[in-house]
Amino acid sequence: MGRVPIVAGNWKMNKNPEEGFSFVDEVQNLLLEIKHVSIIFAPPFTGLFEMNVHPPFYSAAQNCHWESNGAFTGEVSVSMIKECGAKYVIIGHSERRHIFGELDDWINKKLKAILNVGLSPILCVGETIDQRDKGQTEQILYEQLDEGLRGITNFEDCVIAYEPVWAIGTGVTADNEQVRLAHSAIRDILKNKLKGSDDVHILYGGSVNSANAEDLIQIEGVDGFLIGGASLQLDSFTSIARTVEMVQEKKL
Ligand code: PEP
Repeated sequence: MGRVPIVAGNWKMNKNPEEGFSFVDEVQNLLLEIKHVSIIFAPPFTGLFEMNVHPPFYSAAQNCHWESNGAFTGEVSVSMIKECGAKYVIIGHSERRHIFGELDDWINKKLKAILNVGLSPILCVGETIDQRDKGQTEQILYEQLDEGLRGITNFEDCVIAYEPVWAIGTGVTADNEQVRLAHSAIRDILKNKLKGSDDVHILYGGSVNSANAEDLIQIEGVDGFLIGGASLQLDSFTSIARTVEMVQEKKL
C-alpha cells in the first residue's frame, strides 16, 4: 500500500490553547475531503490536552523528556504526552539542538522512551550551511541517524524529517536536487547501514509553503512535510494539505 504521506505542522511557541483549539477545529472542517494524507498538529505543550483530533488528523508534542517522572523541572514525560492523546513526538529539531544544546545521546534516549510507550518519534536531522559548504551533508545525516537511532531494531513507527538548518524559517528552500539527494542518502543509511524498514517516512522541512509544496512533494523519496511558518495560517496549511492529497490521489 506504500507510505501514506504526512503533512505535519510545527507551531513552535505560537498559539495559546484556545487559538489552537479553534484552529484545529477549522482545519478539520475545511479538510473533510482528506483521505490519503495524515495531518499532524504540533502545538506547544499547553495546547496538547485541548486538542480534539480525529483520524486522519493527529497531534504531536514538540519535545519530551526520556524519564517517566521525577525532579526534572520544566520537562514533560512521554506518558503525559500520550495521555493528552498525542500520537507523535518531534525530537531533535534544529532549534532544540542549536538553541538549547540538545545532544544526539539525549535524542536517542527520548526516541527510545517514545517508542516504549507506543508513540511515534519524528526525528529531525539536517546539516548547517557550513557543513553543506564543506561537503559534509551525508556524513552529518549519517551521524545524526546513527546516534539518534542507536539500539533500535524496530523502525516501523519512526518518522525522519530532513530539515536543512539553513532552510528553516529562512524562506530559502533546498532545491529539488538537494532534497532528492538528501532523501536518497537517508533512505540508503536507514536501509543498508542501520537495517531499518522501508516503512519509515522521510519528510522534508524547510520553508515549505503553498507555492512550492506541489513541486516538493513530487520529488522522489519525499513522503510529506514538516512545516513551521506556513502551518500557522489556515489558508497556507490547508492549501499544502490539499496539494499533497491531490498528488497522492493521482498516484493511486
Ligand atoms: C520547522 O520548524 O520545522 C520548519 C521547517 O520551519 P519553516 O517551515 O518555517 O521553515
